Amino acid sequence: MALIVQKYGGTSVGSLERIRLVADRVARWRDQGHRVVVVVSAMAGETDRLLVLARQIQEHPMPRELDVLLSTGEQVTIALLSMALNAKGCPARSYTGAQVHILTDSAHNKARIRDIDAARVGADLEAGRVVVIAGFQGIDEQGDITTLGRGGSDTSAVAIAAALKADECQIYTDVDGVYTTDPRVEPKARKLDRITFEEMLEMASLGSKVLQIRSVEFAGKYKVPLRVLSSFEEGEGTLITFEEDAVEDAKISGIAFSRDEAKLTVLGVPDQPGVAYRILGPIADANIEVDMIIQNIAAQEATTDFTFTVHRNDFPRALEILDATAKALGARQVLGDREIVKISLVGVGMRSHAGIASRMFATLAKEGINIRMISTSEIKISVVVDEKYLELGVRSLHEAFGLDGLRATAGVA
Ligand code: ADP
Ligand code: ASP
Ligand code: MG
Repeated sequence: MALIVQKYGGTSVGSLERIRLVADRVARWRDQGHRVVVVVSAMAGETDRLLVLARQIQEHPMPRELDVLLSTGEQVTIALLSMALNAKGCPARSYTGAQVHILTDSAHNKARIRDIDAARVGADLEAGRVVVIAGFQGIDEQGDITTLGRGGSDTSAVAIAAALKADECQIYTDVDGVYTTDPRVEPKARKLDRITFEEMLEMASLGSKVLQIRSVEFAGKYKVPLRVLSSFEEGEGTLITFEEDAVEDAKISGIAFSRDEAKLTVLGVPDQPGVAYRILGPIADANIEVDMIIQNIAAQEATTDFTFTVHRNDFPRALEILDATAKALGARQVLGDREIVKISLVGVGMRSHAGIASRMFATLAKEGINIRMISTSEIKISVVVDEKYLELGVRSLHEAFGLDGLRATAGVA
């Protein structure tokens, strides 16, 4: 009999009715003889609601206080789910992150898990109880409550699965698996039976929010068998596999996109050694992460243009810093653009197939979509385009790379 960690996201515990359905599913697994640990998110919309409350009091609340507030959402669902389980005659106990010692660093609002004390959970499992743990939260060395960043319950679940050496970590959500792209944007997207861990890591880091990126990193580091499935219907879901041979020989496995992008350009900077450092140094010092970078070659005037992208939340701050740098460098002008998105093709098959980039560019050109920036790595190609082209770009690429038909026999939802 197996030890299973199941995580249920916000929509899956979005009402009392749904919490009861989750209890039914958990109880079925336990009745089959499995030991079950459940990790839950806050009820759908609750974390956003709490954020709005906080911002009504103070525009930039202290991260420590925000964590105390945000962590309450998950505390509600652990209690309600345990009650629902107990009411069904399935013995269960709820725990906050602090109670099971999910020790994190002190980076409030984006803390990283360092350690988990599995002993308490183990004792409950031995006694035949289901253990229900609050996702998204932990405690730091000072005993302060921390949270793990949006979508962090995925990471809680994988970390708990790693600590308990679980046989599988099951992420139950509102879709029945990982799709070729977000089915909300491309209804023709197909469910994948399997995706390699490496591809999942790229998809998550390039914007597919079906799994929080850190959860995938954790699964990779500790080799946690991970599966994404629906909490509303039965099915095998999508297995994140470590064996590359186990997936179909597709050139492209999926299309990820991100709306969280913004672009900054400084025009007419002197083309001298150290210029990139002088532009990006102050940005890095402000703890702002830079994603793509382009520096044009200098024309006759020995000046150049420099463009980079940052997370949209960091845009106002980055613009302020760049304005100051541009003045100091005697640059001609600073431009900012928040209405951009990044679309990426992901697939381990790219390693052995040429011509993917040119087909991508041809497809976008045919639709009249101008590419603003390009970046590639071994298993992905990303382009930055205007925000208004997101849907058109994703759908035309989905079709051009045969993603509809390709997986049609491989287990359509
Ligand atoms: P939960 O609250 O259960 O954590 P999320 O909203 O965080 O759920 O993640 C599930 C959502 O992820 C889906 O509803 C879907 O719109 C979105 N999504 C984005 N990319 C993909 C993808 N490639 N495959 C499946 N779902 C995706
Ligand atoms: N409740 C948190 C959020 O909405 C964590 C999670 O759901 O994973 O981001
Ligand atoms: Mg999520």
